[in-house]
Amino acid sequence: MKFCCPRCRREEEIIGDTKPKCLICDVSMVQATNSYKALWMSPRFVISRMKLLIEKYGYQDATTNGRFKKEREAWTSGMYALGLSEMQNREWWVEIETVEQTPDTRLHYMDQSSGRNCIQTQSIEIVDWEEHVDDPTKVIKQKCQRAYPPHFCLLMLARNGKNLDVELLTQEVLRQKVPFGEIWITGCLAEGLMTMVRIVPNAFRFDFETARSLEKLKEQGDIMQKLKRGTSTEVQELGFVYLPLP
Ligand SMILES: [Zn+2]
Repeated sequence: MKFCCPRCRREEEIIGDTKPKCLICDVSMVQATNSYKALWMSPRFVISRMKLLIEKYGYQDATTNGRFKKEREAWTSGMYALGLSEMQNREWWVEIETVEQTPDTRLHYMDQSSGRNCIQTQSIEIVDWEEHVDDPTKVIKQKCQRAYPPHFCLLMLARNGKNLDVELLTQEVLRQKVPFGEIWITGCLAEGLMTMVRIVPNAFRFDFETARSLEKLKEQGDIMQKLKRGTSTEVQELGFVYLPLP
């Protein structure tokens, strides 16, 4: 079993002891959680996790290898969630779908405007606009040929640094039936500066500085979990969760 010390973050493989203590800090170590299932992760957590993945495997492998697809999708969703949090002044969370084929991720926030907890959720399909593909219209049109529930949102990550003619792209996309309730394109404009552009249902653009937006969310915890208590819904902050990198 893999364990991690919540204080010094030392990781250790321990056999035959289900409640080990850190030999250095003398605090109980935390057993590894090996699935993303039902975890709500903060934008900060998933964004920094991608950074750790790049440190561990190198940029090329971390950003292209199929085995890290979930982590990349979490990062893209995390950036989008960070933008939404900044735009709407609320705390969005990222959940990775681990069972169903779609959506790739779900974003949540807790709406307390009615006086009780109400979870608002956005279901996200993610697609990359890769370096070797010239035309982003093709990427979106391909996704639009499949059937999705109408509340689904398509999020395209522009990875190739090419300029985008949003008006032309929108016209092209709208020529065919669009199964998505929303289509967003996100990408990096410059070091530390992100943009998110909505083309469906209407045009909208929002730019944000990642470091500043993350700073505003510094009170947001890392991971939450949804609890079912009878008919009511509650979410609980989990404190230190040891999710080993893949
Ligand atoms: Zn320790």
